[in-house]
Amino acid sequence: MSNGSADLVEVFSSIQGEGLLVGLRQIFIRFSGCNLTCQYCDTPSAPVDLCQIESTPGRRDFIQLANPVPTERLISLIGGWHRGWPGIHHSISITGGEPLLCHKQLQELLPALRHHLPIYLETNGILHHELAAVIDLVDFVSMDVKLPSTSGYTDVWAAHERFLAIAARKKTCVKAVVGTGTEDWEIHKTAELVAAVDRSIPLILQPYTNQEGRVDLPAIRMLEMQETASRYLQEVRVIPQTHKFIGQL
Ligand code: SF4
Repeated sequence: MSNGSADLVEVFSSIQGEGLLVGLRQIFIRFSGCNLTCQYCDTPSAPVDLCQIESTPGRRDFIQLANPVPTERLISLIGGWHRGWPGIHHSISITGGEPLLCHKQLQELLPALRHHLPIYLETNGILHHELAAVIDLVDFVSMDVKLPSTSGYTDVWAAHERFLAIAARKKTCVKAVVGTGTEDWEIHKTAELVAAVDRSIPLILQPYTNQEGRVDLPAIRMLEMQETASRYLQEVRVIPQTHKFIGQL
């Protein structure tokens, strides 16, 4: 991979199923590779030889391109979609894996993509130095806070704090995957972390959602968690992964 190309998993058009922009249609550019290995991960992020790219937005008529994909090719594709299907997309989701691993490529790619649509960065909220390099090129940041009970990570709180301080320069939301094993102290700590930066930043509690769209977390626990976080924050939402209900990617 060079600055003029990027290792991608897929490029497609779909409905955002999580977080602040849930329900809006986006162009998704999924980068390969991740710096974490969360217990609940269901995202194809490992490097692949071939990138799947839709020929027609939303029609799943994929063609395959060899990785790394030239950034000029990607810019041309997105520009073509924007001209050919004006108004159907709200924004471009830069996702992964962890897209900030490709921050050098993003510095080249994002100014050209942002010419067409706003940029929505989906990130695990760890790589704060890399975020600082691209924060002026994005419009929205959706960052995770990794809870020990669901992700398996116990020592990433400080990285999340530094990351959020930078992300808050743009419209930002924080997402935490919660499950039946999630304890109250994790919700307190997450909400405190967000409130220390800005108590108006939305916190999204995302009940773990399996591939069939089933949520095991009892509704009463969701409400208890929402009540706990709401002591610190102005806006706490509970949103499962809705794209799994409607069979979207
Ligand atoms: S950060 Fe996201 S892509 Fe990476 S391992 Fe965790 S869930 Fe998977």
